[in-house]
Amino acid sequence: MIIVGLKNKVAIVTGASQGIGKEIALHLAKNGAKVVVADITDKMLEVVNEIKSSGSQGLAVKCDITKMEEVENMVDNTIKKFSRIDILVNNAGIYPFKPFLEITEQDWDRVLNINLKGTFHCVKAVVSKMVSQKYGKIINISSMAGSTVGFPNQAHYSASKAGIVGLTKTLALELAPFGININAIAPGPIDPTGTKTTNNIEVMEQIRKIIPIGRMGQPEDVANLVLYLASDESSFITGQCIVIDGGFTVQ
Ligand code: NAP
Repeated sequence: MIIVGLKNKVAIVTGASQGIGKEIALHLAKNGAKVVVADITDKMLEVVNEIKSSGSQGLAVKCDITKMEEVENMVDNTIKKFSRIDILVNNAGIYPFKPFLEITEQDWDRVLNINLKGTFHCVKAVVSKMVSQKYGKIINISSMAGSTVGFPNQAHYSASKAGIVGLTKTLALELAPFGININAIAPGPIDPTGTKTTNNIEVMEQIRKIIPIGRMGQPEDVANLVLYLASDESSFITGQCIVIDGGFTVQ
C-alpha cells in the first residue's frame, strides 16, 4: 500500500461493501481518513467494523445511488457525523454482459441509471459542500470498456463508463476554480476475488494470458491509485482518465 497523508480527511465510497470499493474504503481508512461506507446492501457493516477495529473511524450508510433522496440522506449523515466531505469515490456500478441485439430498453436504463446517473447524483449532492470548503477530490471509477476500447456484449456498460469520462472532463473545468480535482480511473480486468467479474476459471486464465504484465489486476491496484488521486500529492492532476490494466489496452 502506498502511504499518503489523509489524516482527518472525510471520504465517501459508494459500492463499498465488497470488491474494489471495499479495498478502496480500507485503504483510505488505513491512511487516516474517516470513511463513509455506502452501499445498497447491508454488508457494508462488516467493512465498517473492519475499519473500526483497525483504529480508524467509519460510518455505514445504506444508499441506492439511483435515488437522489437516498444520496442526499447519505450526504446529510456524513455531515452530521464528520462535519465535512473531502473525498468522494464513485465506485458503485454493475457490469452485465449481453449482446447488443438482445439488450432491451429496460437493460439499457438500468445500467445507465446506476453507473452514470448514480454518479451524477452523488457528485451533485456532494459538490456544494466541496465548493463552500474550497476543497475536494472526486474520483470516478470508469472502465477500460468504453473509455479506452470497445467491449463486445457490453454496449450499455461501455456507454455508461464513457459517459463518466465525459462528465469527469467537463466538471474538471467547471470545478477547478473551487479547489476541486476530479479524475476517473479506468480499470482493466480485476481479479474476481471479492468481485463478480466472472467465476469461470478458464475465462480468467485466458484473460491473464493476454495481459502483458502477466497477471490480473487486484482491487488493491485500483485502491492505491485512488489514494494518490485523493491526496494532495496529485493536486496538479484533474480531468484525467487513468487506465490501470497491466498494458491490456496498449497492445
Ligand atoms: P462489485 O463487486 O459488484 O461491487 C459493486 C458494489 O456496488 C456491490 O456491493 C453492489 O451491490 C453495489 N451497488 C450496485 N448497485 C448499487 C446502487 N444502485 N447503489 C449503491 N450500490 C450499488 O463490483 P467491482 O468488481 O468491485 O467493481 C466496482 C467498480 O469498478 C464498478 O463501477 C465496475 O464497473 C468497475 N470496474 C470493475 C472491473 C472489474 O474487473 N471488476 C473492471 C473495470 C471497472 P450488489 O452486490 O447488491 O449489486
